Amino acid sequence: MSLIVQKYGGSSVQSTERIKQVAEHIVATHEAGHDVVVVVSAMGDTTDELLDLAAELNLKAPPRELDMLLTSGERISNALMAIAINALGSPAHSLSGAQAGIVTTAAHGNARIIDVAPERVREALDRGVIALVAGFQGIDRDSRDITTLGRGGSDTTAVALAAALKADLCEIYTDVDGVYTADPRIVPNARLLEHVTYETMQELAMNGAKVLAARSVEYARRHGVPLHVRSSYSTRPGTMVSGAAEIPCAERSVVTGVAHDASKAKITLTGVPDSPELTARILNLVTAGEAELDLAVKEASRTAPGYTDISLVLSRDDSLAALAVLRQEQVELGFEGVHHEERIGKVSLVGTGLRAQPGVLAACCETLAGAGVGIETISLSDARITALCSADRLPDAVRAWHTAFELGADQEAVVHAGTGR
Ligand code: ADP
Ligand code: ASP
Ligand code: MG
Repeated sequence: MSLIVQKYGGSSVQSTERIKQVAEHIVATHEAGHDVVVVVSAMGDTTDELLDLAAELNLKAPPRELDMLLTSGERISNALMAIAINALGSPAHSLSGAQAGIVTTAAHGNARIIDVAPERVREALDRGVIALVAGFQGIDRDSRDITTLGRGGSDTTAVALAAALKADLCEIYTDVDGVYTADPRIVPNARLLEHVTYETMQELAMNGAKVLAARSVEYARRHGVPLHVRSSYSTRPGTMVSGAAEIPCAERSVVTGVAHDASKAKITLTGVPDSPELTARILNLVTAGEAELDLAVKEASRTAPGYTDISLVLSRDDSLAALAVLRQEQVELGFEGVHHEERIGKVSLVGTGLRAQPGVLAACCETLAGAGVGIETISLSDARITALCSADRLPDAVRAWHTAFELGADQEAVVHAGTGR
């Protein structure tokens, strides 16, 4: 008998009809003789709808209260799933993240899992009961407050439970057939990947491929949890995410896929006095609220000797907070102006050993030029080439690279429900 953790995303449980279908699949797995732990996300767009409601009342809602609000989404879908499984005659027991022993840091809205003590999950399994755990949430031991794990965090809940319970497999059920060479909503002939290494998947996820939350892949890699990404709408085989040793040589390639991210913004500070201490102060201010910088570029000012311009690329949400702090400190820091580009496009070619293939970088630039997409900056590492472009040209940039590197399949990918919001 094996222990399987199954995670169902919001797009797989957006209606009672869908909850019934998923419940049948869970019961079938249980009746086949497996121990089953299930992690469910909030139904459909519930999390976004709850955020909209909060914003109607308060644009600066206290992070603690936002977490109390958002975790209710996963509590609802989780209890409904237990109710549906009961209706099919099987025993099921739903638990909140805190009840399931998911212990996190105190960072409301973006907490990290630091410990998993799943006694109550084990007790349920020992009694032959299907254990359901609300995704995306945990508890901070010191304050005893409820926390959330960042968007897409139910993936991380599932992986963390699989690691703690030493599960044989962690299945991630979603609204596409697995991990593709690009987002099939943007590139209709994207190709389904049979295997992806943790490293490549992490690079794809960190650069916008939201089919798996980046932190869940990092967690799986650290704990050696094999992941199986597949559709809750079909029985197609899906994608295995694992260590490189498990992947056949024939399937390893230089370029794996193209990721894109439309959630980035750029802040440019002009006329900044050229001093390393001042640059460090600015970077510290911007990242103080746990904001993650994608890129920081410092260039000598073209108009004023002794001064520099500093460009910062970060998520749109973080950029708003950073902008407020920088404006507040403008006189003290002594820079001349600040410019905010609210939307910029970020496209990334992901693979291995890219730096050793000089032709690849040249081809990236030529292809974007050929498609009439202007490049703001381009950066290169072994695993990724990333270009920044205007937000409205981002889909064209993704398609251009996908075609240029011949990543496509003969037939179109299947995308099920979901708004892709
Ligand atoms: P869930 O609700 O199951 O968590 P998400 O919306 O978080 O689902 O993630 C699934 C979506 O990820 C797909 O519908 C697809 O649009 C998007 N996506 C982005 N990049 C990729 C990729 N490379 N392969 C598959 N899906 C991708
Ligand atoms: N419901 C949360 C979100 O929309 C968590 C998740 O779906 O994994 O981000
Ligand atoms: Mg998701």
